[in-house]
Amino acid sequence: MTSDFQIQLGLEGIGLRRIARIKRMRMIDAGTNPFQGLPHIARFSCSRCSTESDWMQFRTISEINRGIPCPTCNLGAPATDQNQSTE
Ligand SMILES: [Zn+2]
Repeated sequence: MTSDFQIQLGLEGIGLRRIARIKRMRMIDAGTNPFQGLPHIARFSCSRCSTESDWMQFRTISEINRGIPCPTCNLGAPATDQNQSTE
């Protein structure tokens, strides 16, 4: 049991590290979807590149609070300005 748990922790640790490297956009506006589709809508802004998303549909508020990956910052190589790696 203990070993299984440790394996799970290890896998989760790797997962979290990967997730942490994804730059996420934060919700700047949210509301109820007036159109057909999913019940919630939200817009997002990226604190790094200032990109703002269009209104997007979500099934739950939790998904909105989690934010979405920034399409600009996560496109190919991450931004070089704030990347401390010199290699
Ligand atoms: Zn961005």
